[in-house]
Amino acid sequence: MTAETTPQLLAHACESGHVTYPAHPRCPDCGSEQTDTVDLTAETGTVVSWTTVESTPPGVREPNTLALVEFSHDRGQVRVLGGTTADVSLGTEVTPVYVEQLRDPEQSVRNGADQPWDGFRFEPA
Ligand SMILES: [Zn+2]
Repeated sequence: MTAETTPQLLAHACESGHVTYPAHPRCPDCGSEQTDTVDLTAETGTVVSWTTVESTPPGVREPNTLALVEFSHDRGQVRVLGGTTADVSLGTEVTPVYVEQLRDPEQSVRNGADQPWDGFRFEPA
């Protein structure tokens, strides 16, 4: 895998410094175009909320623990929602880990080529 293809967990920023995840066509805070990114791939975040879904849609692991993770960076904080690799609780420190297949395309209600199937989960640090 080359540096160009290494997956990154990127938050997006406008020129006013507001940071969001995921990206938006326009900054939800000020309406400016988001022109910059903040790389969270190697950062450690803190779980600020979590839930475990016991009954999931087709193709999604069951049970599926989701966490809202807050990352601090030089422009403030940004929160990212994602699955976890293990049980977490409030305050658990986690790092993003790349996963090639977040869901099973064969079982999903969506078509295989319509969306990426890879992404990041959060692993206790
Ligand atoms: Zn903004």
